[in-house]
Amino acid sequence: MQSQQFQDLLNAIPLLTSQQRNTLINALSEQNSPSDIAKSIEDSFVRAPKCPHCGSEDLQRWGMRNQRQRFRCKSCRKTLNSFSKTPLARLRHPERWPQYLEGMTHSLTLRPAAKQCGVSLKTSFRWRHRFLQAIEHDQAPELSGITELDETFFRESFKGQKKGLPRAARKRGNDRQNVDKYRSW
Ligand SMILES: [Zn+2]
Repeated sequence: MQSQQFQDLLNAIPLLTSQQRNTLINALSEQNSPSDIAKSIEDSFVRAPKCPHCGSEDLQRWGMRNQRQRFRCKSCRKTLNSFSKTPLARLRHPERWPQYLEGMTHSLTLRPAAKQCGVSLKTSFRWRHRFLQAIEHDQAPELSGITELDETFFRESFKGQKKGLPRAARKRGNDRQNVDKYRSW
């Protein structure tokens, strides 16, 4: 935002009604909340629903799955939800994401984060990397510093256990491999 626009914004604050003021405060605090990553991905889908496979905007509702609205693209007939083809595609337990993200802001390593949220170490590993991808995508101010530190967390969390490194098996010769690069996670 240009500084003049920002100045205009500041000048407008005294003119706000109390309701508008509350809305603004909520909007600003939501902006800073780490759990907002998922919401912001979801919101951008809701603002402009579009098939991530073919780009068509001609979608129809296609029931619910895991408490999430599903859609079907009338053009390519694939089904999707608001997270399809985003870093958060196919991650489960969305009700635990906010707590996990909160742990990330407090620099929890994989193991304590897994324990805190009651998920496996493998899930903790997957979530961390997916959320980091989402954050890079979204640049939430509170979390953006984590990306640089992540290598350290990674080394610490897996110190001395090369064998147990959780990693999804790569499928060979699978023609769907490039269809959804997040699917094998
Ligand atoms: Zn489509």
